[in-house]
Amino acid sequence: MSRDSDQPLQLVAATANPHKLVEIAAILGSAVELLPRPGDLGEVVEDGDTLEANARLKAVAVCGHTGQAAVADDTGLEVAALGGAPGVKSARYAGEHADDADNRTRLLEELEGAADRSARFRTVAVVAFPDGGEMLAEGMTTGTIAVAPRGDGGFGYDPVFVPDGGDGRTFAEMSPDEKNAVSHRGRAFRALAALLGL
Ligand code: IMP
Repeated sequence: MSRDSDQPLQLVAATANPHKLVEIAAILGSAVELLPRPGDLGEVVEDGDTLEANARLKAVAVCGHTGQAAVADDTGLEVAALGGAPGVKSARYAGEHADDADNRTRLLEELEGAADRSARFRTVAVVAFPDGGEMLAEGMTTGTIAVAPRGDGGFGYDPVFVPDGGDGRTFAEMSPDEKNAVSHRGRAFRALAALLGL
């Protein structure tokens, strides 16, 4: 798809997570105007079995509610020694009301003494259009799980994730630009931008 307008493409963001919003806006740049998720739309139940299904659920719900093209991402951390867990359940790994710190603590406990700490982040990004069409892109970053959290940046599992090919710092020890350059979300949204002809 190619676009012939100089105007930014307007996409309603399906996420209300401010960390994700900042990252997505920085990755997509001025070619996209991200509109905020409508406050009167309730939480979308993410009961899909895959990242793709959940990203689609969120994008379609916001598109249906607003009548405008909407963009969603769903992300999972897949740890080899845990058979790919927490994966699609990453947000609730330590329980239904778990916060990021709870999830990191559970992950480090599960991996105590593990020889293999390899892991990967995967993001699936979906744009849903009012005519029922969609575009989908995926991004992945491989790495290892640190033995203890390090760094104040980022969010979620960033303080325990050390991307491959770097200098040993966790995502939370990197600047936002450094993370976006190699992150699962950076890769997914740059691929999505290419599909959108941006
Ligand atoms: P969701 O895509 O919002 O469902 O996120 C799933 C889980 O992964 C949540 O616990 C997030 O905090 C975490 N997560 C999502 N993206 C990232 C990231 O870029 N870095 C670290 N954790 C993340």
